[in-house]
Amino acid sequence: MDCRPRFSIHSKYNGYPYLQSPTDWPLCTMCGNLMPLVFQLNLSEIPSIRPENALIQYFECVTRDLAGSTCELGYPKNNSSLVRKVKITVPPIQVPVDFSSLFSVEDSFSKLMLKKISLEHKIVGWQPFDDYPSLVDVNAKMEYLTAYIGEDALDFLWENLEVLEKIENKHCSSEDKLFGYPHWSQTECYPKKMSEEIELLYQINGFVTSARSSIAFRDGERGMFFQTDDLKDIVFTTG
Ligand SMILES: [Zn+2]
Repeated sequence: MDCRPRFSIHSKYNGYPYLQSPTDWPLCTMCGNLMPLVFQLNLSEIPSIRPENALIQYFECVTRDLAGSTCELGYPKNNSSLVRKVKITVPPIQVPVDFSSLFSVEDSFSKLMLKKISLEHKIVGWQPFDDYPSLVDVNAKMEYLTAYIGEDALDFLWENLEVLEKIENKHCSSEDKLFGYPHWSQTECYPKKMSEEIELLYQINGFVTSARSSIAFRDGERGMFFQTDDLKDIVFTTG
């Protein structure tokens, strides 16, 4: 498979982003270094009732100091990451890239990261499958119900939901996916700043659980892109 990075409009992991101008590649506001592209989703290539000639791009700083600390610990990395929606207006601009300058330490982790961010994994198609809310989501809703039905009834429901999930194999996929339901690793972490109804746009595994991914999310958890119904507002979170 050809993994050479290209400045293109395709949906992909890592590699080079679509840029509209030579200064369009975002820099980390903490260290000033280039933030590698983690993920790019072309909204005209996805199965949607409202395809758009636009991209979702997610960038994250990979710079570490000599002690191995990243620019900004933990999520949300408001100053060392960026999620943005970009309209495709002009052919992709190409700029010179030297990812190796991002790594001042020549250890095996830096070498691995350099390889990861340099190899582009293009998304060539989509396969439909059934997806269901995770028990974490159901649990969150049940807390809300406790006031109405009491704790005993809630326990009964909870146990039977687990059984139902096992019997019917209606599980929430932990794989990378477009749409569906978030697979939270512990508790739900829906972004709070979005006031409107939101839906999962894309779930991405970190490099602990995915061969494609270039970024390790907290404790090997997942990254989630959430969207409002009209795709105006996109938020990235982990959980
Ligand atoms: Zn940085």
